[in-house]
Amino acid sequence: MSNVAWIGLGHMGVPMSKHLVDAGHTVRGVDIEEGARARARENGVEVVDSIGDAVRDVDAVFTMLPTGKEVTAVLTGPDGAFAHMPEGAVAADFSTTGIETAETLSEQAREQGVGFVDAPVSGGVQGAEKGDLALMLGGEVDHVLAVERFTKLVGNYIVHVGPSGRGQAMKVVNNAMMGVAMAVSCEASVLAQRLGLDPQVFYDMVLRSSGDNWAFRNWFPLPGVVPTSPASHGYEAGFMVDLVAKDLRLAVELGTELDVTMATSKTAFELFRRTSEAGAGKRDLTSLALELGAQVDP
Ligand code: NAD
Repeated sequence: MSNVAWIGLGHMGVPMSKHLVDAGHTVRGVDIEEGARARARENGVEVVDSIGDAVRDVDAVFTMLPTGKEVTAVLTGPDGAFAHMPEGAVAADFSTTGIETAETLSEQAREQGVGFVDAPVSGGVQGAEKGDLALMLGGEVDHVLAVERFTKLVGNYIVHVGPSGRGQAMKVVNNAMMGVAMAVSCEASVLAQRLGLDPQVFYDMVLRSSGDNWAFRNWFPLPGVVPTSPASHGYEAGFMVDLVAKDLRLAVELGTELDVTMATSKTAFELFRRTSEAGAGKRDLTSLALELGAQVDP
């Protein structure tokens, strides 16, 4: 059994790190929020106060943080993980950060004598709880293999996509599709409601029709139909509006750079940005349906 560090114990970090604890590894965790630290402790993580304490004597460091900004802050610099990890240990970042961040971090890790893999995930909190996330890995083969015994505990479809940054490339493209699908699923659900269609009848028919998609099926945005959808739990995240907006922004920026028209991604980004500005940035992404006028019982 190994010692590992886990930085970022939020909606995804807690259920994912629990699989490592359950497998018998010692998981030392760091998070800036007391609520997150408390939930992690309940799940068997040994919560420590500093990154230095978390990463000494570890075989691997895992990060599951909101954006590239936080990942860069915890991994680099004199107090960061790269500076205190044992030589040869590998850091794998499960967060969605974008290609540039992953490539830069990989370079900085190499300079400090440690490994780095970008390893973004798909499947949501439910996938994290079940340990059946899809993982898209970018980096050197040796580094991917070094963390395999841990990544296998959180995912059941793990693909080494290519060199550093390729995992992020895959993830950003996937999440552009998911964000657009969620946006159209929200507006369609509001339209169906205005047309007087029963939400359950509407949901069941779409699942057998051509409008079906993963976001609609798993995260149906009206309450009381899909028990596991955040819409059935007061729109509590789940996957926060601010995070899907971040992912859509990354996709739109790549489109601009590579001269690809990202018209629907831009529209979806604007809708989620508007929802965030209305005060729902920390709520689940299904709350876009409320912003678009869904009527739900208080
Ligand atoms: P989250 O906000 O719930 O969790 C992030 C955690 O990081 C929080 O507990 C926060 O306190 C902590 N944190 C922030 N800055 C920190 C710092 N400097 N040091 C230590 N801890 C810090 O987010 P999440 O939903 O768990 O998502 C994490 C990442 O995974 C994001 O990049 C997101 O886009 C991606 N993702 C999320 C989902 C999902 O369904 N929630 C699915 C796939 C991928």
